[in-house]
Amino acid sequence: MSLFDHVEFDNHEQINYVCDPESGLKAIIAVHNTHLGPSLGGTRMYPYASEDDALTDVLRLSRGMTYKSAMARLPLGGGKSVIIGDPKTQKTPELLHAFGRYLERLGGIYIAAEDSGTSVPDMKIVHETTSYVTGYHEKVDKDGTTKSGDPSPATAYGCFLGIQAAVKHQLKRDDLSGLTVGMQGLGNVGYRMAKMLAQAGAKLVVTDVNTEVLKQAEQELGATVVGLDEIYRQKMDIFAPCALGATVNPATLKELDVSIIAGSANNQLDTAETGRLLHERGICYAPDYVINAGGIIDVCFETLGAYDSDKVNAHIEGIHDTLMEIFERSARENIPASDLADTIARERLAKGETTLEYRRTA
Ligand code: NAD
Repeated sequence: MSLFDHVEFDNHEQINYVCDPESGLKAIIAVHNTHLGPSLGGTRMYPYASEDDALTDVLRLSRGMTYKSAMARLPLGGGKSVIIGDPKTQKTPELLHAFGRYLERLGGIYIAAEDSGTSVPDMKIVHETTSYVTGYHEKVDKDGTTKSGDPSPATAYGCFLGIQAAVKHQLKRDDLSGLTVGMQGLGNVGYRMAKMLAQAGAKLVVTDVNTEVLKQAEQELGATVVGLDEIYRQKMDIFAPCALGATVNPATLKELDVSIIAGSANNQLDTAETGRLLHERGICYAPDYVINAGGIIDVCFETLGAYDSDKVNAHIEGIHDTLMEIFERSARENIPASDLADTIARERLAKGETTLEYRRTA
């Protein structure tokens, strides 16, 4: 199949295949759209079974970034990169330096950040050969306090607010007390969300491949631990996918009996058709790229060199209002929330509506 006919192609502006035999780098850098600003999205490192799998992943993710930033009214376009390889054994400073040199050649139409398989320290190494990378600066707040470049706390905060919005709309409640949330994945985002949910009085049912983190959640948050496949069968009000993509699909929907699906994972639905199934079944779905935009909002302020946590939090709090607008319109116009989100994001993209101005710093 030709690239232009790829089912996920969606008019990408540019797709770069890069290879550096000396360091073993093999990567794809996808630039979906730069209408609102330079494309920004994380660098995922994963041992993809095939080049086709890597291409499909990067195309879906970079398009998602265009929609995510447009929806959050950020002056950024959508892009993403994938490095094909095992981050545990193949990630070396030489490989990250080679990757940085390719980013430099692209001249800033794509800006990288950390993602699955890469970290803040990795982005610091990439920065040694390019300035087109973000998400690693120590952020200095207006009161002089600093925090790391990790966007996960901001993502978790946005997701927590998104769950509150879904509960308000679907269950007509202003609090989470006594509601059960099934959490799939307790990583950088998931664990922080779990803490906020527990503090708000929610009961947690959790699963993860990492047994250490499960023990911690049991002891610290009073969570009930279940097996990886058991999570779908639990009696719960909210299912929060915070690990992998495509875990909401016709097979898991046969088991899931929930009112709300709202979590941090990217590409939660296996296909657009699943979004329609959710709507038919009356399940309130918080579209993934809307609810998980806290991280890109945080990184955007970092990239603009205008970090101020009050402003960042105020922007993240907009996620609640955007989701309420989607839920209400979805009910009123009888359109699946997932389809409606795409329509609103395309409208915002076409109008070029952003609340910040892009001004590159270092
Ligand atoms: P992470 O790697 O820190 O956490 C993922 C967790 O999922 C880990 O604890 C891992 O052990 C667990 N996991 C892996 N396979 C699993 C399985 N089969 N079942 C259950 N758990 C499993 O990643 P993260 O930064 O917390 O991100 C979580 C999700 O949110 C990802 O899909 C990511 O793309 C998305 N996301 C993250 C951010 C961010 O700021 N970090 C922003 C937007 C979206």
